[in-house]
Amino acid sequence: MAKNLNITEIKVKSILNKHKKRDPWFLDDYSINPYKGCEFNCIYCYTKGTHYGGTLNQPLSVKINAPQLLKKELSNRAKKGEYGFIAVSSATEPWMPLEKSYQITRKCLEVIRDLKFPIHCLTKSPLILRDLDILLEIDRKAILPEDLKEKDLSGVRITVSFCSLNQKIAKIFDPSVPSVEERLKLVETLVEKGLDVGIAFMPILPFISDKEEELEEMVKVAKELKVKRVYFSPPTLFGKGKVIFFSVLKKHFPELVEKYEKLYVRGIPAKSYTQDFYQKVKRICNGYKVNLIV
Ligand code: SF4
Repeated sequence: MAKNLNITEIKVKSILNKHKKRDPWFLDDYSINPYKGCEFNCIYCYTKGTHYGGTLNQPLSVKINAPQLLKKELSNRAKKGEYGFIAVSSATEPWMPLEKSYQITRKCLEVIRDLKFPIHCLTKSPLILRDLDILLEIDRKAILPEDLKEKDLSGVRITVSFCSLNQKIAKIFDPSVPSVEERLKLVETLVEKGLDVGIAFMPILPFISDKEEELEEMVKVAKELKVKRVYFSPPTLFGKGKVIFFSVLKKHFPELVEKYEKLYVRGIPAKSYTQDFYQKVKRICNGYKVNLIV
């Protein structure tokens, strides 16, 4: 367990969130978050500006009753045949160091396996490999939602994320996350195990990790690792999250502060930037025949 963390054990009233609409990128209809707050504490994390992140007094909470609750809530959905992908997780890292001792994510996966739901795992952590046994079982047993049965989808989809392939940049913006090298190795291992893996280059940092050569390197790496798909997106910055991001920007890239202020008048970057960005990314992915999800 990481030292000097202010950790609270909490009991929550519900754990399974049903989305109003299926996520078009990751295909999840549901999400669960076994923890509140995140030990990785990435500078660009969107949860910092929302109620999903931890608070000053309670930066990190363990939802100790999550597996029991999930069993109850998911059984109800299974009885009605309401199968759908579950995002594990949408607002925290499910395999953060704390999970080594608490094993809340692992216990939730056991419930999901027993009730045969498919999952999408979004992670930056090689600790996911500890749970390969259950992931492979879920992959074999999961029942897909009716309208996705025709598509050739796996019961377990995993996405590993990066903000840059440059370790110096990653160290500034996600300092507590396993290194770029460790995450690339993780992707390689998951692919070797026969799992369905994608890479999320999210968030790509404007004027920092969005240079044509770096984007091309990312696509090339994804191709070499034989992932099924890639995602690209700039960060969303608002509220407290924006303040934290700008303080780091000021320290490490003071010359970019003004450019970011103009770019982020709202929580998302100006349209002119995103249009150019996606044109560039699409062109590169087409060139390498890499499946880009947009
Ligand atoms: S790992 Fe994900 S959830 Fe955790 S701080 Fe980083 S971006 Fe946020």
